[in-house]
Amino acid sequence: MYCSNCNQDLEEVAKFCPDCGNKAESKPEQETTLETTATLSKSNESSGGNGGKIIWGLFVTIAGIVISVVSYNEAKDGGTYVVAYGAVIYGIITMIMGAVSDNS
Ligand SMILES: [Zn+2]
Repeated sequence: MYCSNCNQDLEEVAKFCPDCGNKAESKPEQETTLETTATLSKSNESSGGNGGKIIWGLFVTIAGIVISVVSYNEAKDGGTYVVAYGAVIYGIITMIMGAVSDNS
């Protein structure tokens, strides 16, 4: 663990930085992300049915668009880029299927 203020190497148990007195805080960013992902997939499962389908479709569509845009930007200097049509189309179809069966 390192001091967020002066980058002094701190002991894991240290509450304050001995060098500058800055409060030592551990950063559980990765755990928070994992928890959020777990909560998302849980709520997706528990809601189930068509609402979950629409949300999943929306998620896949956005992911496909993001992949397309990112890979396009990376390929600007020349080279190939991937357009994730498959993911976008799959996501849109999933959303439509969810919306259609929701109405019936
Ligand atoms: Zn410090």
